[in-house]
Amino acid sequence: MPSKSDIQIPEFRGDEDFARELDHSDPLARLREEFHIPRATNGEPCVYLAGNSLGLQPKAARSIVLEELDQWARLGVDGHFEGERPWYSYHELLRETGARLVGAKPGEVVAMNSLTANLHLMMVSFYRPTRDRCKIMIEEPCFPSDIYAVKSQIGFHGHDPKDALVVLRPREGEWCIRWDDIASTIERERERLSLVMLGGVNFVTGQLLDMRRIAELGHRFGAVVGFDLAHAAGNVLLQLHEWGVDFAVWCNYKYLNSGPGAVGGCFVHEKHSKSFDLPRFAGWWGNDPSTRFKMHLQPEFIPREGADGWQLSNPPILALAPVKVSYDLFDSVGMDALRTKSMRLTAYMEFLLDALLHESCEAITPRNPAERGCQLSLKIGGNARNVLSKLHHRGVVCDFREPNVIRAAPVPLYNSYCDVWRFVESLRSIGKS
Ligand SMILES: *Cc1c(COP(=O)(O)O)cnc(C)c1O
Repeated sequence: MPSKSDIQIPEFRGDEDFARELDHSDPLARLREEFHIPRATNGEPCVYLAGNSLGLQPKAARSIVLEELDQWARLGVDGHFEGERPWYSYHELLRETGARLVGAKPGEVVAMNSLTANLHLMMVSFYRPTRDRCKIMIEEPCFPSDIYAVKSQIGFHGHDPKDALVVLRPREGEWCIRWDDIASTIERERERLSLVMLGGVNFVTGQLLDMRRIAELGHRFGAVVGFDLAHAAGNVLLQLHEWGVDFAVWCNYKYLNSGPGAVGGCFVHEKHSKSFDLPRFAGWWGNDPSTRFKMHLQPEFIPREGADGWQLSNPPILALAPVKVSYDLFDSVGMDALRTKSMRLTAYMEFLLDALLHESCEAITPRNPAERGCQLSLKIGGNARNVLSKLHHRGVVCDFREPNVIRAAPVPLYNSYCDVWRFVESLRSIGKS
C-alpha cells in the first residue's frame, strides 16, 4: 500500500475563494451535471454528503426505466428477445463495466439479488465448516445484516456462534483495526478458521483494509477469504482478481447510485468458475442457457460457468436498468480518475476540519489516504443527533451511526470543493451557537 507521502496532496487554504478555485480547475467538475441534487428548504441545492448511504440519482436513470416500461408496453413477452436491450440477456450488459469497477474478469461478476441475499448464497458455497475448522472471522463494528447472516450460517451448519465466531476488534480506546491484530488473529486461529469475511471499507470508521494482504494471509493458513464491499465498490480501487479474493458482495445503491434497494453485485473468483461440485442453492437463471428451457427433459441443474452460475431468478429489469446507467457512467470516467479526485476532496475536508476539531469533535477515520475511501467519520462529543439536525437545517445532509458518529462522504462524481467548504463552515457555526 502506498504511504501518505506517496500520494500527492496539494497545499490548501481555508478561504472560500480557494474552494472555488479548486472546483474551477477540477477536470471532473462537469459530472455533477449528470445528477439530480436534492434541494434544501430554501430552494438551493443541498450539500449532499450521504452518498455512502444512498447515492444520488443520475439524470439518465429515469429515461432508461421509462424505455423499459415502453418496451414492455409495446412488445409484451417478445421484449425478452426483441428491442434495443432484450431482457433475456440484460444482465450481460453490465458484465464488462461491472468487472472493471471491481478489478475482475468479466465472467467473475454478476448483478443479482441484494447484498445480504448474495452473502448467503456465497456462504452456502464457500463456508464449508468441518468439526475442527468451523470458524468465521468478522470485524467489529460489523454491519447488523452481515453479523445476522454469518451467525445464521454458523447455526445452519449445526455450530454455535459462541464458539465459531472470531471477532476482530480495535484495541481499547481505538476505533480502527491494526494490521498486526488482523495478522496475529488469523495466525492464532489458523487451525480452526474456515472463512475470513470482512468489510473492505468499514461502514462506521471508513477504514479501508489491505484486502490483498488479508487474502494472502488467509489463504496461507487454509481459510477462504470473502469481502463485503458495500462501502468499497465505487469508492476505492479494487483488484479482486489479482488479489485472489474468493468471493465478494456489494450493494449498488451507495457509492454506485443505482437507487434505493438496487440490485446487488457479486464476485466469484475465476479459480472457482468451474467448481461445479461446490454446494450451491440453485435456480433456473444459474443454469446453462442451452438446457434452461428443457426443464422437463433435463431436470438436473447444470450450472453456468463463472459468477453467472449463482443466479437464481430472471432479473428485475426495471431495477437493473439504473445499475446499467450508473456502471456506464463510472466506466466512462474510470475509477483511477475518480479515486484521484476523491483523495484530494477528502484531504481538503480533513485540512479544513483540522483547523476546527477539538475535544468535542474528533475524526476517527485513518489519516493515511491509502487506508480510507472518501468518508470521514467524526466522533461528536455533545449530542450528535442534534448536530446532525442542525446541519440538515442548514442544507447539509450527512448521516449518523450509533453511538455518536457523524459520517460525511464527499464523493468525486457529484460533490464539489465548495460542498466540502460549506459543510465545515456549517459545523463551525453550529459549534459556536
Ligand atoms: C449497506 C450495507 C448492507 C446492506 O445490506 P442489503 O442487503 O443491501 O440491505 C450490508 N452490509 C454492509 C456492510 C453495508 O454497508
